Amino acid sequence: MLRHIKTNWPDLLHFQPLETPFPAPERIFPGLEEIDPETFPAFLDEIGLVGMGGSGFPASEKIRASIGAHTLVINGVECEPGITVDQTILLHHPLWVQAGANACAKAIGATQVVLAVKNNPDHISRFRVLYPEYDIAPFPDRYPAGAEKLILKKLTGKMPPPGVRPYQMGYLVQNAVSLRAIGRAIVDGIPVVERPLTLTMPSTGFYKNIIAPLGLPIRDVLEAFNLPFDPEAHLISASGLMMGNEVGLDDCIEKTTLSLIILERSKLEEKERGCIRCGTCNTACPLGLHPYALVERIKKGRTKSPAFKAQMTECFLCGVCSAVCPSHIPLIRTLEEGKQCL
Ligand code: SF4
Ligand code: SF4
Repeated sequence: MLRHIKTNWPDLLHFQPLETPFPAPERIFPGLEEIDPETFPAFLDEIGLVGMGGSGFPASEKIRASIGAHTLVINGVECEPGITVDQTILLHHPLWVQAGANACAKAIGATQVVLAVKNNPDHISRFRVLYPEYDIAPFPDRYPAGAEKLILKKLTGKMPPPGVRPYQMGYLVQNAVSLRAIGRAIVDGIPVVERPLTLTMPSTGFYKNIIAPLGLPIRDVLEAFNLPFDPEAHLISASGLMMGNEVGLDDCIEKTTLSLIILERSKLEEKERGCIRCGTCNTACPLGLHPYALVERIKKGRTKSPAFKAQMTECFLCGVCSAVCPSHIPLIRTLEEGKQCL
């Protein structure tokens, strides 16, 4: 049921399609030559694609909005600590990623494809071989460098103004795993029925990138790898330490499950203290927001002003402010509530 992403470098030269536990689809999906702006969004709906970088946003809507963009950016910067599934996919499934990227570029009419990746010289030299037709843009290996806004800031030299979407600047940013899913559908006719993800239990030294079927209970994933999970002592964080959330054994693998990280509860329980007005959260926010001021407004119910709404709309819940707070104030939880006020 679970398959390891190939990590044997020579295998790339003789790429073997991964076996699938699912029946072959009844209809053949169109080939690359058939991709056009009219039918491509419906094709994405048909294969069931949503943003697999974690957004879960319907891919068809993003493509429709991006028709006319000049540049497609393959987002492989993934910057959540401990997750390496995007770079593993880029290294080991280049044919599917390229099929997906070329299809998206053709559909929107983009003339340039940029591969945005972490600044790892060893990986970059491999990417130059695997993706010879694309420009490679290195990004710092620092959270949250992979956020769309920060990618655009680096590529265009200026921070996108509040409320401006990438397509309004001529860019479509697509996650590497989403593009792999598109390529898999085009090349093999397999819709979105599986999810590459990082599975790790740091206390035991276990670390793997795997492909799991969608809908598989997390209990089955942990059992398949004999991970000694104890609900009293551990918690399971899905989709990242910064932007993810806690899940249970009966929850299932979803399209947005980037990772499953099993953590020791005892190491996470830091006692919250009062705000000491140090300003660290303001300095750390990649968008220059004032997180604690937002949190105070949310707690006091002062959420109607245009200034609050503008800042809250910009916040993409990256969690950096929470992570750096010396008083261990869970700012992110209150900011999540603030999003509900919009
Ligand atoms: S979660 Fe915090 S650091 Fe991240 S964008 Fe929002 S306010 Fe800024
Ligand atoms: S980092 Fe924490 S203690 Fe410092 S200003 Fe922000 S919320 Fe207050």
